[in-house]
Amino acid sequence: EEKVRNILITGGAGFIGSNYVNMYTSEENVHVVNLDKLTYAGNLENINVEGNPDYTFVQGDICDKEILKSLFEKYQFQQVIHFAAESHVDNSILDPSAFVETNISGTFNLLQNAHKLWMEKPFVRREGFENTKFLHISTDEVYGTLGKEGLFTEETSYAPNSPYSASKASSDFLVRSYFHTYGLPVLTTNCSNNYGPNQHDEKLIPTIIRTALKEEPIPIYGDGKNVRDWLYVSDHCKGIKLVLQKGRFGETYNIGGRNERENIYIAQKICDILDTLTPRKNKKSYKDLITFVIDRPGHDKRYAIDASKIENELGWKAIENFESGIEKTVKWYLKNIVHERNHSGRRLGNKTTPIDAGN
Ligand code: NAD
Repeated sequence: EEKVRNILITGGAGFIGSNYVNMYTSEENVHVVNLDKLTYAGNLENINVEGNPDYTFVQGDICDKEILKSLFEKYQFQQVIHFAAESHVDNSILDPSAFVETNISGTFNLLQNAHKLWMEKPFVRREGFENTKFLHISTDEVYGTLGKEGLFTEETSYAPNSPYSASKASSDFLVRSYFHTYGLPVLTTNCSNNYGPNQHDEKLIPTIIRTALKEEPIPIYGDGKNVRDWLYVSDHCKGIKLVLQKGRFGETYNIGGRNERENIYIAQKICDILDTLTPRKNKKSYKDLITFVIDRPGHDKRYAIDASKIENELGWKAIENFESGIEKTVKWYLKNIVHERNHSGRRLGNKTTPIDAGN
């Protein structure tokens, strides 16, 4: 039997990281160390593998060099799967500093530690670290915005427009440079908008569901015609796992579900589902609550991913389309999350942030 490997997962208490930890830890013969700072976005309730002997949680900051040094020394990690980030565009507009710290400096610290542990000197892997991998999770927002036509491919030039996407673009470049300069075995995924269980309250889809259930105005930016390419989180996690298993070092892989939808359609679709599952007392549709609010500055008009590379090279394909995934997601919220008519649920994230319509 294969020896148990120590794997570092960062940001595993957040939305995508927790879905990955829950899926991965139960399937693989690995010991996972989940390093998460537990910012407002992290929540240990997202994780259901607590108590599993192959899982260890460490609360800590990827910007803290001492913690990283001691963890890399103690566990001699074979792999790093890096989710930790400041992830909310609106927060990056209000105050970009944490984005520069965590997304750029934090990623750099991880690269430095992996390099020190795995590489004897440039291009030579240290003995015992032949199967090491560093997987960096990034976003399609690094490519900027699209007009009506076209798709982002792995060849599209970077043109980030928000402090968030600029910080992610910077981290992607650092990861790339560690491959070309030092031969570090890196892989990068650039994914479109995710949705599904455990997503923090502040993001678009949880905001729509939450405000609808509270019978409050459902805020939609601008004219609601901005387009995102939606991917159900478990499809993303399976893509990440495939890239980890079979991806080619130094390559980037776009992950997207070919599910372009306008924001206004998202809101209407969720209202339709809620109208069926939990009708309002006054019998009106939740759609009456949809309210247009002033657009976010620098708001990208359209994102859409060409996922041909991961589909053709690694055999990945999204299982859920938007309509099937959103139905599952709404049902999950109704079952699990605190709202006016269900006080038994839990909250998402460590604190509730003000309502906005970000994604
Ligand atoms: P999230 O905000 O839900 O979770 C981020 C997690 O990282 C939280 O648990 C937080 O506590 C932790 N964290 C933040 N700063 C940290 C630090 N300095 N040290 C250690 N932990 C820290 O984010 P998410 O939506 O799960 O996104 C995960 C990754 O996927 C990010 O890198 C993001 O850029 C990328 N991504 C997200 C989407 C999306 O639609 N959500 C799409 C593409 C890519």
